[in-house]
Amino acid sequence: MTATARSLLGKLWFRVLLGLTLGVLFGFLVGPMQDVLGLGINGKDFLTQYVKPVGTIFINLIKMVVVPLIFFSLISGIISMTDAEAFKRIGLKAVGSFLMTGAFAVCIGIMFGTVFHPGLGVDLSALRAHVGTAAAAAAPAKEFSMVQLFVDMVPTNVVKAMSEDQILQVVVFAIFVGVTLNKLGEKTQMLNDLFKQSALLVFKLIELIIRFSPYGVFALTSWVVGTQGMDILIALLKLVGTVVGALFTQYLLFGLMIILFGRMSPFPFYRKMAEPQLLAFSTSSSKATLSTAMKVVNERIGVSKSSTSFVLPLGASINMDGTAIYLGICALFFSQAYEIPIDSHHMLVLILTATLGSIGAAGIPGGSLIMMGMVLTSVGLPLDGIALIAGVDRILDMLRTTVNITGDSVITMLVDKSEGTFDKKIYENMDVA
Ligand code: ASP
Repeated sequence: MTATARSLLGKLWFRVLLGLTLGVLFGFLVGPMQDVLGLGINGKDFLTQYVKPVGTIFINLIKMVVVPLIFFSLISGIISMTDAEAFKRIGLKAVGSFLMTGAFAVCIGIMFGTVFHPGLGVDLSALRAHVGTAAAAAAPAKEFSMVQLFVDMVPTNVVKAMSEDQILQVVVFAIFVGVTLNKLGEKTQMLNDLFKQSALLVFKLIELIIRFSPYGVFALTSWVVGTQGMDILIALLKLVGTVVGALFTQYLLFGLMIILFGRMSPFPFYRKMAEPQLLAFSTSSSKATLSTAMKVVNERIGVSKSSTSFVLPLGASINMDGTAIYLGICALFFSQAYEIPIDSHHMLVLILTATLGSIGAAGIPGGSLIMMGMVLTSVGLPLDGIALIAGVDRILDMLRTTVNITGDSVITMLVDKSEGTFDKKIYENMDVA
């Protein structure tokens, strides 16, 4: 093996890319098989029964540490900001930027939906027959109220919130704990140290788990490629194309943000984000990608420890620009397909609910679908169409999760830069990639 190949194989992003590529090939090869290795099992079932579980174990390992990660890292981020003013300022900057980019992303989605008309002439009843009643019945077409979204952010029982993966509730509790510890100051020094050390423990745990990611990525990708029907993708090609175009535009806009607000070249950012982006793409979960993104943003991009541990987990919980775009486009898609126009008043409601939907969406595969109920109801559109687009959701989810985690990382970097705590030398050093 040449020295270059050895050094590439030593890099995790390369191994993840290898896992992804081999996964695509394996899925294409095995998916259509009638009988795999003479075992009397077809390709799709083989991938689902024997290959996907490897990916599921990987996702479970990550899920196992997500709540402790968000909890301890937010608290240790807050207690490292002993200056109460700085904490308020950073918090406001972060939340303000997350909300603004979220609303802007919805507008991009609406713009693409208006210009490209993905739902025009789509025969929903034909699609419904195509998808089948089983999928329609499985649609997570749940209604949501906006007020309830805020009420639900406050946990009544922290242990329950943690055990049920209610990330927003965990975030709220962690912020309360962190702020209170700061007020108590030295009186609770031991507790402060305990939280900081727990955060270190979780980071180390994640470092170990992440080594397993190339195998998890291989398994998940081959399963997606081998089992997801291409026919439904073709039936909804215009929607898929519109979503891909809008997500790509947003991806480029992040670069523009780095140039305009950070006054830096975006290339080191794009280059260094490859690893978390590949992971987001293959797992479709921003929760699963958070730990890797934190490591990269801190060690290779040059964001300070305190911004990384405070702003990034906050972003992964409340900022999903790819999801916001998707919710915006899908609302227009259904309005066009059902021929129920959205008037200007409802357009504002749509921007608001889709932004809130992207805040409330869980960072898991298909998180958007659950929020889509709230968005469609708010503008008076029927919910039964959600099942129809569920067929193409996984592929689009891979792309929007990549945009989601990229957006969180861009804002974290820009907030850190505005605070003067950003290390530009690390950012520009391409050897740390
Ligand atoms: N899968 C996305 C994420 O984890 C959420 C979504 O469904 O849009 O970021």
